[in-house]
Amino acid sequence: MGLEITTTKLEDLANWGRKFSFFTYPFITACCGMEFMSVAAPKYDIARFGAEFPRFSPRQSDLMMVVGTITEKQAPALKRVYDQLAEPKYVIAFGVCASTGGFYQNYSVVPGIDQIIPVDVYIPGCPPRPEQVLDGIILLQKKVGEGRTVNQMRARREAMKDKQRQSEGV
Ligand code: SF4
Repeated sequence: MGLEITTTKLEDLANWGRKFSFFTYPFITACCGMEFMSVAAPKYDIARFGAEFPRFSPRQSDLMMVVGTITEKQAPALKRVYDQLAEPKYVIAFGVCASTGGFYQNYSVVPGIDQIIPVDVYIPGCPPRPEQVLDGIILLQKKVGEGRTVNQMRARREAMKDKQRQSEGV
């Protein structure tokens, strides 16, 4: 019991640090990229949220922002880059194209990146306003702090299953 409480507190502390130190990998494919640049520029000052350093290597990033339309041909590359991100990793779908395929209802466009990778936060808009993007980052910070991102919840489920298997002696 005592060890469990200590582990939980350590996890909370780690999550507190993580939510204020996102290293963003911008996967930019289309016009939403202009809005990403705007958010990263001094006027909106993404640095206030501890997310000011875009990294162009997935191994040095933990937050992937998928910015723009993803075609079926780009999907394998998106998955490969996601797999290479450092753990624990988070994903934001930036704009309606990344979130749902947008107005491209055709065979060549992926109808939402959650068909390929897990998504933590969806930002609507075509393109989203910078304020919406900041809202999305704040929401992600909240989820990370509370341990409610897709991968954090999956890891907790796996740990519980392991514990149950151990207690059953399987
Ligand atoms: S959501 Fe709109 S602005 Fe963003 S990539 Fe799609 S079409 Fe372009």
